[in-house]
Amino acid sequence: MTDSTQNSSTGINVDPGEVAKFEALASRWWDPNSEFKPLHDINPLRANWIDTKAPVAGSQLVDVGCGGGLLAEAMTQRGAHVTGIDMGEAPLSVAKLHQLESGLTINYRQMTAEQLAEEAPESFDRVTCMEMLEHVPDPAAVIQACARLVKPGGQVFFSTLNRNPKAYLFAIIGAEYVMNLLPRGTHEYSKFIRPSEMGQWIREAGLEMREIVGMTYNPLTKRYRLNPDDVSVNYLVHCEKPHDTQ
Ligand code: SAH
Repeated sequence: MTDSTQNSSTGINVDPGEVAKFEALASRWWDPNSEFKPLHDINPLRANWIDTKAPVAGSQLVDVGCGGGLLAEAMTQRGAHVTGIDMGEAPLSVAKLHQLESGLTINYRQMTAEQLAEEAPESFDRVTCMEMLEHVPDPAAVIQACARLVKPGGQVFFSTLNRNPKAYLFAIIGAEYVMNLLPRGTHEYSKFIRPSEMGQWIREAGLEMREIVGMTYNPLTKRYRLNPDDVSVNYLVHCEKPHDTQ
C-alpha cells in the first residue's frame, strides 16, 4: 500500500469521485428497472450461493460497500444479523428507509472497512463485499480489512469484474454503451481485478481461497446465471479465515 493509492485529502481508502457516482443515483436503488437493474438481477443468485456455501442464519454478517442494501436485506431475510457499511450518505439513507418498508432490522453505518476492522476486529462470522473492490483506490487494503473483520473459521465473499478484452467488451461497451444497462462511466477498466490478483491479495491477507464462480449474462435471454467454468467477466469468490494453528 502506497500513499499515492490513498485519497490525499483524507488519507483514507476512498475515491470521492466513485462514491459520488452512487450518491447521484441512490434514489433509484430499489427500482428494479433503474440503473441498478443488474444488481437486482444478480442478487438472488449471489444470496443463494453465499447461503449454500456457508449458511447465514444466526450469523453476525457485515456487508462492506452495502449501497442501498440489496444484499444486506437478502441476508437478513435468511436469518443473519447484518451490519451494512458504505461511504455513500445517500445510498445509506435509502437503505435505512427501505428496511422500514421491508420490516427488517439492519445496523447501517457510514464508514470504511478499515475503520470497522479497527473498531471491531474478528467480530463477524461472515463478511460480504460485492461489486465494490473495483471502485476503491486500494482494493488489497479492503481485502485485508475484511480478513481482520472475520472471526477465525469465518467466511468471506467478494465479487468483482475481471480485467481482459472480453470483460471490457461486456462490462463497459456492452453494458454501458450498447444495452444501456449502466450509466456511462460507471466502471473504469483499469480498476477491474484479475482472479490471479484477487487470489494473491486474499493469500496475503491470511485468507484461504475456497471457490470461485462466474456470473454470466446472456444478452438474448437477458438472464444471469452462475457458471463455474466462465469467470471471464463477473465473478464471485468464497474464502475462509483459518483457525489459529498454535
Ligand atoms: N455491494 C452493493 C453495492 C455495490 S455499488 C451491491 O452489490 O448491491 C458500490 C458501493 O460501494 C457504493 O454504494 C459505494 O458508495 C460503495 N463504496 C465505494 N467506495 C467505498 C469505500 N471506500 N468504502 C465503503 N463503501 C464504498
